[in-house]
Order: sequence, then structure tokens, then C-alpha cells
Amino acid sequence: MGMDISTAFIHAGNTTDPVTGAVNIPIYQTSTFRQKRLGGGVEWEYSRSGNPTRAALERLIAQLEAGSHGFAFASGLAALTTVFSLLKAGDNVVFSRNVYGGTFRLLAQVFDHFNITYTVARGEAAEDFDAAISDKTRIVLVETPANPLLSITDIRAVADVAHARGALCVVDNTFLTPYYQRPLELGADIVVHSATKYLGGHSDLVAGLAVTRDADIATRLAFIQNASGAVLGPFDSFLLIRGIKTLGVRMDRHSENAARVAQVLQQHPAVRRVYYPGLESDPGFAVNARQSASGGAMVSFELADGYSYEKFFAALQLVALAESLGGVESLACHPATMTHAAIPAEVRKEIGISDGLIRLSVGIESARDIIADVAAAIDAARCR
Ligand SMILES: *Cc1c(COP(=O)(O)O)cnc(C)c1O
Repeated sequence: MGMDISTAFIHAGNTTDPVTGAVNIPIYQTSTFRQKRLGGGVEWEYSRSGNPTRAALERLIAQLEAGSHGFAFASGLAALTTVFSLLKAGDNVVFSRNVYGGTFRLLAQVFDHFNITYTVARGEAAEDFDAAISDKTRIVLVETPANPLLSITDIRAVADVAHARGALCVVDNTFLTPYYQRPLELGADIVVHSATKYLGGHSDLVAGLAVTRDADIATRLAFIQNASGAVLGPFDSFLLIRGIKTLGVRMDRHSENAARVAQVLQQHPAVRRVYYPGLESDPGFAVNARQSASGGAMVSFELADGYSYEKFFAALQLVALAESLGGVESLACHPATMTHAAIPAEVRKEIGISDGLIRLSVGIESARDIIADVAAAIDAARCR
């Protein structure tokens, strides 16, 4: 409809109440809807199949991701479960080494039981994905930037490779959000989100979303969403619509702060290496700049020899040691023992997740305060 995405965050999806004109869609906290007569066609029947608050969110995310149909789920993993449920026994999924740990576990320990197999691409380049695809592959899953090394994959190149081999390209767009990156416009077939992160933005809900612009895929996702039932409730749908209204201003501030933190870390003598695709020196910079409008707000780094990450985490005061990301508050995590602990130590080492790796989710506090806290913790991390 031609409106700028910053306007769409607030006005897309018709999230005003059609009945009263309330500017915020009400929380339709109901499981069922009274029907006027037997067999009369009704818009709303039962809230697993459809709920007006959830439907408003689904219209909103569809429009933001330049898709035609959106679906809201109880978590990001519930969204991914629904997408993988498009497959049948014998089918194969290809993803890269840096895939989200929970996604790996879902495929390796749940879908595996149903003989849906997976293949791990050796790297993040389109050729690595191409080499991993077999004639059984039906889904190629991309995360970019991928966690925790913020590695970048060329979405258009992987979508082309997937399509040439008869597979769908699914992109997990959690880290950059539609404000910065719209995978459907780059050739992807389905976009998924852990809306728990930036879309919600306040660390107060767990939610997942999926979007497509393909009518057949949409029909199948809608069927599976209703048949398997991991839908998002009305209250969380309302909170997520509310969070999305400020996505643009939050992401501006998040990424501005992250760029400053990354620059300070890069110049710090006690930092060995910084991973941030918004830095020109980062190996993913050029591809990321071509397909998105920002390096995002996740920054990972390693301390130099003679500095202890244990001491670093113990010294943080403002920045909280916590799992998750994308909330207004800055968080720090230790991938080796937290988000990526399920990956065997040898594999972690092979893919470059060192024991000393530190991951920051840079919040929207004053950049000065965040930098002061991180710098003080680095000083305190020196081994004497
Ligand atoms: C958190 C996360 C998920 C899982 O989402 P939940 O909402 O926790 O189920 C999937 N992908 C990425 C990239 C994530 O960061």
C-alpha cells in the first residue's frame, strides 16, 4: 500500500477495533463465539482456528514482511515446528552450522523420529548450502546474521540454489526483523521469527511468527496451525502488536548503540576479536550491506590472553547475564555454557565458538552507560 515501514508498524494490518473504533484492537479473551443459527457461515468459531486479536497480528506481520499471509504461534520453535510439519518421512532439511540451538534440537531429536533427516552445511556461503542439498532436500533453512558469530549468508543466492534443486528457502529473520531485512523480497518462500526477541522487544513474552506470499504454502500452514494447535493467545497477541509499534525507533537505537559498542571493543587492547556484521572489517559486511539496512544489535567478542571471561561476567553491573536477546535492556551471555552448551565441545571449537566468546545483546539504554559498564568489566577481567 506504499506506506513507509515506520508508518506500517503503527498503521498496517487494521489493528483498530472494527466494532468500537478503539485505536487498539481489544484482547478478545474468549475460546468460543456464539453462532446465530445452525450451519450459518460465521467468521469466528473457536480461538484455535481463529481469534480477532491474533488475526490482527497476523495481518500486521504479513504486511511488514511483504507477504500475503501471517501466522502467530506460542513460540518461535512452535512456528518452526509448523513449518517443518510441511514435510513427510524421507524428506531432508539443510541448515548451516550456526543454526539456533533449539532449531537443531528440534530436527535432531524430534523430527528425526519421523524419518525427516537433516544435513549441516559446512559453511555459510551459498556453495556450502548447495553442496549439502540432496534430491531428498525439501527445505533449506537460513539464519543471517547467525548466532553467536553473527555470520552472514546471501539470502538471494541460497534461495536460487534451493529453488534450482526443488526445495523451499526458509529464513529465520529474528535478528534483523523486517525493519532491516525482508527475505521474501530476496526470494525466500517462508520467513519465521522468534517474536520473543526484537518484535516483542520488552522481554515480557514468548511468541513466534511465520509469513509467506505463496497461497498454496499459506493454505497448508493454516491447516497445520489449526491441526497441531500451538497458537498464540489473545493477550500475548495484543502485547506483540503493541511491541511492534515501536520497532523502528527501538531498532534505530539498538543498532546505533551496537555500532558504538563494536567500535569501542575493536579498538580495545584487551579484545582479541569482534564479530559484528556492521563493521567494515567484518567478513560478512558486504553481503549484509547488500541485503539489509543494518548490522543489527548483537555483538560478540573474545578477550585477549591474560583476561578471564569468568571475571568479566562477574564484574558486569548494568548489563545482565541472561539468555535471550532483543529486549530494551542490554544482556550478556556466554555461548559455550549457555545458548550453545548442547553442542559438543569439539564441534563448538570446530565452528569457532571458543570458551572465551562473549555475546552482547545491546539494549537501548544510553550508549555511554553500556560502554562504561563493559569497559569496567574488561578492566576487572585482567588476570593479575
Ligand atoms: C530464540 C530463537 C528461536 C526460538 O524462539 P523461541 O521464541 O525461544 O521459541 C529461534 N531462532 C532464533 C534465531 C532465536 O534467537
